[in-house]
Amino acid sequence: MSMDLSRSMDVLVVGSGIGGLSTGILLARSGFRVTVLEKNPHPGGMMRGFIRQKMECPVGVHYLGALGSGQILRRFFDFLGVSSEIAVERMGQAGVIDRYIFDDLTFDLPEGMDAYEKNLRTAFPHEQHQITGIMTLLRQAEKHLNSLDFLFSDLIGFAQPEQFQAIGEIMTRLGCSPGLKAVLGVPSHWIGVPPDQCPAFYHNMALASYLMSSWRLKKGVKMVDAFVRRLENLGGRVVCGDGVESIRVESRRVCGVRTVSGIEIKAPVVVGAVHPKVVLAMLPHEAVRPLYRKRILQLQDTYGIMCVHAQLDASAHPEISHNIFRIDRDENGNIPDLKFYQIRGQGAKSVMSILTSGKAELWRKWENTRTGQRGRDYMEAKEQQAQNLLIEAGKIFGPLKGCRLLDVYTPLTIRDWVNSPAGSAYGVVRSCDQLFTASLLNRSSVAGLFLAGQSVMAPGVIGTIMGSFHTARFILGPERFRESIASYFQK
Ligand SMILES: Cc1cc2nc3c(=O)[nH]c(=O)nc-3n(C[C@H](O)[C@H](O)[C@H](O)COP(=O)(O)OP(=O)(O)OC[C@H]3O[C@@H](n4cnc5c(N)ncnc54)[C@H](O)[C@@H]3O)c2cc1C
Repeated sequence: MSMDLSRSMDVLVVGSGIGGLSTGILLARSGFRVTVLEKNPHPGGMMRGFIRQKMECPVGVHYLGALGSGQILRRFFDFLGVSSEIAVERMGQAGVIDRYIFDDLTFDLPEGMDAYEKNLRTAFPHEQHQITGIMTLLRQAEKHLNSLDFLFSDLIGFAQPEQFQAIGEIMTRLGCSPGLKAVLGVPSHWIGVPPDQCPAFYHNMALASYLMSSWRLKKGVKMVDAFVRRLENLGGRVVCGDGVESIRVESRRVCGVRTVSGIEIKAPVVVGAVHPKVVLAMLPHEAVRPLYRKRILQLQDTYGIMCVHAQLDASAHPEISHNIFRIDRDENGNIPDLKFYQIRGQGAKSVMSILTSGKAELWRKWENTRTGQRGRDYMEAKEQQAQNLLIEAGKIFGPLKGCRLLDVYTPLTIRDWVNSPAGSAYGVVRSCDQLFTASLLNRSSVAGLFLAGQSVMAPGVIGTIMGSFHTARFILGPERFRESIASYFQK
């Protein structure tokens, strides 16, 4: 491995998640020789699920928005050349994509803007003008997302300044009731930013992408394999099991990396497709401008997630074709906690995945330990939390027949698996407070060093790939980017 690996490259990408692989494909398409370096034994980061007791357990891809023909993610996948290998099934055929269950209301999020508006108007008949106000902004966001303007401009630009206000503030100004606020607030919670802090465009684009159409991977489909194969077909390569220890800089210019096993690889361009704080820690102290260091270190991150996977008897618990959210709301419409449930059939058995916010305080006792070294009390604490979540699930799905715990992971697991600070699920928080400190993270203060991944623009599969396009644009320069990439989308 070492002889070949030390060959110099045009671009080295640190991290093989969606961000690293999609940036690698974009650059390889434009003629660069690309190597992606991954610390784990297998590529994919959070895009990669795992198997427990022969059952598939997803991690960071439960559903995908906007994969319908002509829609944004489909156009990205087509351009990246991975569509044909990622078999998906459409959700919402029975009229529901997400079911929100509150103590006093059940609300169904369907496919399509008009259907969503209709459900809102039926559920909240006395708030017609509030719903009109919210829908106007949501439709603007949908239009903007479809126009792909962001490929050609520096900002996720909106003409309407209102889109930069917090969605929570907008709901309060419109006089939305606590019930309506809570329904409208679910998507921003789901992407890790409470509505009072979440810029409206950010919330609206996430929601609009799922309303356009929502999809699940078919059983057995490994998205990561499609990305890796495509990169390799373009002449790129992915090297796993040897993380990057440091990024090498000479005269303020990046010149390569050094891996944990001590291999030095030269390249004039390095892309850190990992969290910006992780990239910073890999750089020689003197190579980084103090202002840049300060800016990165002060970035706040989204919360961690805890997840339980349990096996159930499929005869009693068959696959449910929509997702279920169980949501606690207070009297002001704030959401202190929500739980996400998905049940997927796998033969005679089903797998139920439960996701909830990771509650950092529960795991603080073990924060100085690494995966595999945490001991019995940690295992017991995980098991206890899992049992509590399964009891709550039983209140929604009835007695859980044939229930067998497959796996529990905590924010500490995610932290150690993909190097996400404190196990943050979606990386840097896109809040109104750090709208500007968190913008344009694709570039760094070191020449030749760029960033990609969910923290640079937006999280999720769509947001992370959008960020990769921007990173490619900075590396290629606007002219070459327009010729080799953007012109495809202008047809
Ligand atoms: C529980 C959960 C559920 C989610 N569900 C959805 C969903 O349903 N739909 C959706 O669109 N999004 C979802 N997301 C978000 C989505 O999964 C992420 O936004 C996306 O996968 C992030 O990709 P990334 O490339 O930025 O990061 P990662 O996937 O974290 O990739 C980073 C990679 O870098 C590697 N790495 C780190 N340090 C080094 C190093 N020093 N050297 C080499 N390699 C290194 C890591 O091992 C990892 O492979 C979910 C996220 C979570 C946590």
